[in-house]
Amino acid sequence: MSQDTGLRNRGRERSDADDRRKAAEDLTGTKLEEISKYSFDPKAAEKNIENMIGAVQVPLGFAGPVRINGEHAKGEFLVPLATTEGALVASVSRGMSAITSSGGARVMIFGDAMTRAPVFRVNGIDHAAEVIEWISKNRKKMDGEVKGTTSHGKLISAETFPNGRSLFVRFAYDTGDAMGMNMATIATEAVCRLIEKETGASLVSVSGNMCTDKKPAWINAIEGRGKTVLAEVTVPSDIIEKKLHASVASVIETNIRKNLIGSSMAGSLGHNAHAANMAAALYIATGQDPAQVVEASMTMTVCESAGNGLYISVRMPAVEVGTVGGGTRLPCQSEALSMIGCLGPGRSKKLAEIVAVTVLAGELSTLAAQASGQLGKAHSELGR
Ligand code: NAP
Repeated sequence: MSQDTGLRNRGRERSDADDRRKAAEDLTGTKLEEISKYSFDPKAAEKNIENMIGAVQVPLGFAGPVRINGEHAKGEFLVPLATTEGALVASVSRGMSAITSSGGARVMIFGDAMTRAPVFRVNGIDHAAEVIEWISKNRKKMDGEVKGTTSHGKLISAETFPNGRSLFVRFAYDTGDAMGMNMATIATEAVCRLIEKETGASLVSVSGNMCTDKKPAWINAIEGRGKTVLAEVTVPSDIIEKKLHASVASVIETNIRKNLIGSSMAGSLGHNAHAANMAAALYIATGQDPAQVVEASMTMTVCESAGNGLYISVRMPAVEVGTVGGGTRLPCQSEALSMIGCLGPGRSKKLAEIVAVTVLAGELSTLAAQASGQLGKAHSELGR
């Protein structure tokens, strides 16, 4: 088999991924030359993908600098964003500039727990009550099962939801600096086996969808999942006018009629302009699970008048991010995490704060653009 362009360009050893790509080329009749060009050792991605044939490149830019006055993120940051949406990075940078000129954004984490909620089949409501009682009285035994599967994960709570012959248990874990979905799932399976043995309840699925992972759900919006993060800033009216070309009153009205009334009328679980945009770009850049942008999309944006300025806040009930494990160990994603000082243990709360402030900046800029009728113009100039 001859060396293809990607291999020659990168000087990599021939790998299974190259053989697989060659097979895919033969089967599909498509030359995958660009997909073959990537720099990392496919072995580095062994835990992240099966049937690897190459890599898809997403353009990476930075927004900022943004000043953050958090509990964990303190100082000025250049935030890496991976996207194909023209105008997004420019818009977030504009919001960040307004935030920084206003002294920076305050940000805080109000909750931190990853959940997994199995569903058991029980014989009826008497049996459900017995299982619930066993769960409430046997915390130590359940902790022991968790300990057998992870050194960093700890069980925080087990909330029960009976419904006829189904019993849901929403287990919440402290997962350290990992996003924690694998950790929580593996630990929950071990606890479930114990519950089955001791109570006669039968596990139907380790995920009964009350977790709720990668689906928009009120339970996450209300109780939180991963990190619940709030960010706020008060922007003086002259900055709103000079940097964002809008008035405080017009931004507030746009937020009320669009993000609050419009979202409610549509039955949306997100009350924001485009929180998912910022979350997606930052998650992809830093090796987070991009499907969990679903939970980030449940952000609520609030705008109020504050003296001679605009108070704007975002409440993100479910920021599911980690600085170890998952896609964070891939080389490009590790570098992007390093840009914001978020690579490795002890940094996941800092990352969650940066996520919330990036969302705040994007919300501020886009609300102002819509309040002053600039959204279409910006996209036609920058995105087409
Ligand atoms: P993981 O890479 O499976 O687990 C994290 C690993 O890091 C553990 O082995 C943990 O060891 C270790 N670790 C080292 N230092 C740590 C620290 N300071 N804090 C926490 N852990 C530390 O990652 P995960 O976050 O649990 O899961 C993320 C992955 O799950 C992503 O790839 C995502 O796509 C995937 N995912 C899985 C499911 C599912 O249902 N399983 C659902 C959605 C997403 P110990 O465990 O020994 O402590």
